[in-house]
Amino acid sequence: MDSAEYERKIAHRFAAFDQDGNGTIDRADFNAAAARLLTEFGTTARCDKGQALYTGAEAFWQGMAGIADVDGDQRVTREEFVGGAVKRLRDNPERFAEIARPFLRAAIAVADSENNGGRASVASVERALKVLGASAEIAGIAAQSLDTDRDGLIAESDVVSALAVYFTVIEPDAT
Ligand code: CA
Ligand code: CA
Repeated sequence: MDSAEYERKIAHRFAAFDQDGNGTIDRADFNAAAARLLTEFGTTARCDKGQALYTGAEAFWQGMAGIADVDGDQRVTREEFVGGAVKRLRDNPERFAEIARPFLRAAIAVADSENNGGRASVASVERALKVLGASAEIAGIAAQSLDTDRDGLIAESDVVSALAVYFTVIEPDAT
């Protein structure tokens, strides 16, 4: 993989976190992600699912900041993201899973609008990915691939492990 391809892949992952597109990752991006998911699935911020999502978003941000915000200015720049989040988490994907899990669990619960017992349908996950900025094509492919046992439902564990790989393993064949 040449350096231009590596840079492009890093840029995609950074953009996925930079929800408001202002060039840095901070708490507002995690709150924006939570708000977008709640709006998409018609859930209020005040209900249990909504509060769990915001609590998870804050924990995700705190975890990300703890790993990557080297200068402590409460913003993660592209350089901090590459040096901290990607490099440090690559050797420790369990750490990523740990900081992302509360948010992902809550997001699955919000997306589980049909009450599938804490699992979300492939279609719901596709909607969630799209509202978080994925293209229609990528969202469709990603949602299908998350349903590893092909029962049409996606569990928290599927999302946690797939996302940990996506953000920490930058391979030539990954998009
Ligand atoms: Ca931002
Ligand atoms: Ca910083």
